[in-house]
Amino acid sequence: MRYNPPMLTHRLSALFSRRDKPYDATALAAGGYRLPRRMTSNASLLAPLISILIFVMVITAIVWSLNRREQQYQQDTLYRNAAWAQQQIRVALGDVQDQGAALARAAAAGSPQIGAALAQAHRHHPEVVLVDWLDTDGRSMTASVRSEAEQATEGTASGTRPASAPVPASQARSASQSGDAGLPTIPANLPQWQTMLRAGAGGPASQHYSPLLFDAAGKAYMTLQTPVVRARRQIGSIAMLLSIDAMLAHQLPSELTSKFKISLVAEDGRELSTSSTRPRLPRDAFSQLRLQPPGNGLSVRVYTYPRIGNLTNNTLVWLVAGLSCLVLWSLLSLWKFTRQRAAVQQALFEEASFRRAMENSVSLGMRVLDLTGRITHVNPAFCRMTGWDESDLVGQVAPFAYWPPDSYAEMARQYDMTLRGKVPASGFEMRVRRKDGSIFHARMYISPLIDASGKQTGWMGSMTDISEPRRVREELSAAHERFTTVLESLDAAVSVLAANEAELLFANRYYRNLFGVRADGHLALAGTGFDMTQVSNDSIDLVDTYAGLPASALTDSSADTIEVYVERAAKWFEVRRQYIQWVDGHVAQMQIATDITARKQAQELARQQEEKLQFTSRLTTMGEMASSLAHELNQPLAAISNYCSGAAALVKSGRGSDATLLQALDKTAQQALRAGMIIKRIRAFVKRSEPKREPADVHDIVADAVGLAEIEVRRLGMRVAIDAGSPLPAVSVDPVLIEQVLVNLIKNAAEAMYGAPRQNDPERSTIHVCASREDEMICVTVRDTGPGIDPAHAEQLFEPFFSTKRDGMGMGLNICRSIIESHRGRLWAENRQDAAGQVLGCEFHFTLPIGEAPSARYDS
Ligand code: ADP
Repeated sequence: MRYNPPMLTHRLSALFSRRDKPYDATALAAGGYRLPRRMTSNASLLAPLISILIFVMVITAIVWSLNRREQQYQQDTLYRNAAWAQQQIRVALGDVQDQGAALARAAAAGSPQIGAALAQAHRHHPEVVLVDWLDTDGRSMTASVRSEAEQATEGTASGTRPASAPVPASQARSASQSGDAGLPTIPANLPQWQTMLRAGAGGPASQHYSPLLFDAAGKAYMTLQTPVVRARRQIGSIAMLLSIDAMLAHQLPSELTSKFKISLVAEDGRELSTSSTRPRLPRDAFSQLRLQPPGNGLSVRVYTYPRIGNLTNNTLVWLVAGLSCLVLWSLLSLWKFTRQRAAVQQALFEEASFRRAMENSVSLGMRVLDLTGRITHVNPAFCRMTGWDESDLVGQVAPFAYWPPDSYAEMARQYDMTLRGKVPASGFEMRVRRKDGSIFHARMYISPLIDASGKQTGWMGSMTDISEPRRVREELSAAHERFTTVLESLDAAVSVLAANEAELLFANRYYRNLFGVRADGHLALAGTGFDMTQVSNDSIDLVDTYAGLPASALTDSSADTIEVYVERAAKWFEVRRQYIQWVDGHVAQMQIATDITARKQAQELARQQEEKLQFTSRLTTMGEMASSLAHELNQPLAAISNYCSGAAALVKSGRGSDATLLQALDKTAQQALRAGMIIKRIRAFVKRSEPKREPADVHDIVADAVGLAEIEVRRLGMRVAIDAGSPLPAVSVDPVLIEQVLVNLIKNAAEAMYGAPRQNDPERSTIHVCASREDEMICVTVRDTGPGIDPAHAEQLFEPFFSTKRDGMGMGLNICRSIIESHRGRLWAENRQDAAGQVLGCEFHFTLPIGEAPSARYDS
């Protein structure tokens, strides 16, 4: 994505406008802001939770303690009341026992009031159901005293019958059945009674209780027998039947029975009587005390009634439990809320941190102005850029500290534009003064600052330091200008053609001057036969070929160089062509066409001069060889003359036969042919002709050259030998020029050998010429036995006008080398030496390439 400061500014201003300050901006700016730890952990909930738990535990402990104390209290109360009840019953039983003892004493004394006393017993002790005096055999003694007793009772009683008449069992039963009110009820169906009484009548000589008796209804009774002792002899006993129910009903105070359920319990735990009909519940607390010694194993048991206090206690417990649950629920809700709040705060914090980090890390300087033009915020980048601290800038109104004093007017104008919202989207450039006084160039973009409610609260400005881009731009511009200047002033036509659509992408002034801004000039420079479709196809291939290569591969690819003659410009150009990657990434063809017309003309001139030189050289050679040639021609001409004279003499003398004449004429003709051949060779050698290459056999060239040169060689007293070689492939050469080289070399060899001692050795007077094949070249060697080449002159040998001869021109070898090199061959010389280092002579070699010569376009 492209860097777009205005868009970035807009986004940043949007971000800032949404800022709801969920954090301490100053702390954040200082980098010291941290989310409180308790917001990020659940530890905050642990304390209240522990408090609640402790509270619940304490409450539970209190309740438990209260309950325990209650239970103890209850137990104490029960115990006290049980003791009270025990005491009451004991007292009552004690009284009964006392009464029994009194009755026994009365009976023993034979008191006349015994009957009345017996009758009184029930009255005093309602629990005594029956009283009887029994003899030791268990027979009732009350019959004798009954009348007496009744009398006594009637007199004293309030008109009612004694509550407990000491009647025998049978009577008692009948009395009971009679339904007399107020009379003690004889327990129905109590057969044990009599038996018990009889059994106990002669029992121990002390008061004693019988085991429990039960009537048909299940009610419990027991007897108390008191021995009647007279004169130390037991004469009977007073038997009392005690009702357990009555004992409970009459002997216990009402305040006790109203508060507690009281039961009398047998030794085996059976409940004999109870003060309340309320069924016993398993959880009912009770206290139990034995009545013994009286009671014969009876126990009194006191139950507590469910108390109001318990209910209150329970309510309190439940209240506390409920409250605890409520507190726990509140705590949970608080915990959830805190977690949500912490999550929201964390998210807000992260967003705030992100924004702050972004704001801190951006390289854009940001400045916020309120609607009155006062700076309300600057970011660190702004401070870094200007060198002013935030505290210096925030709160300032124009002129700001970073305004350069010399630009107040311009800055005020921009400030005014800012506040009026007239700043263009592309911002404005400004000069900014740093705190240290230095100035830099910046670009400021302005956008409105909109808050969360959509209301504009100020102006957000984002500033970028453009000093560096500006410098780079200026440098680039200067570089471009230099580049353009160089390209424009180049003395060569530079053009770039889009490879795939023959569109001229670039042309410098030289090109434009020559061809205008059309692409055909580029095509013309590309050479004759340049086909547009071919260009396109080539280009496509090139694009494919270069697709995977780096740009350097295109630019580094070796360029072709061709020389082209452009008709319409009448100029020669050396064209370098190269495929490059154009600025848009496409492959393009760049051509640099250098005008080489002058060079071409100079080359042409040089070529012509060279030809003239060669021609001159040949003429010179011929001139030098003129005497030899004249001598050589003289011979056939003299022979012709002789043959003709001889023939004429024969004819004149008449001795000449036809055969003789014909022979003479044949020889004449041969000599004439020989002379003609010499002249033809000389003419062919000397005539001026354009270089004309044709396939030629090197052996023929060698033979012709030797034929020409050997006239001169012979004149110097030497001979030339052609070393026969194997047939050689044809070479494409100008035979006359190669002959010229050979003639020159042979002539030089002969001249070198001319002064050298030959010691009458024919081999030392022989120049050897041979031709052989070496790879793709034909190598021709001219070997002499002269003094060889002086090493001091080896360097200069082929230089023009170098000669060691008195009348030498010094051009021969130079021309020879240019001829050989123009045939893409090589000419060099080396001395021959023997094993002792003695120079035996000198060898000149030259090579010629086998096969077709390259196009003349490249040779010229
Ligand atoms: P010129 O024959 O007019 O001197 P050339 O260019 O043919 O000019 O020869 C240049 C020089 O090279 C000669 O003057 C001679 O010194 C030396 N030179 C040429 N051929 C031979 C040779 N076969 N042996 C020794 N020196 C030679």
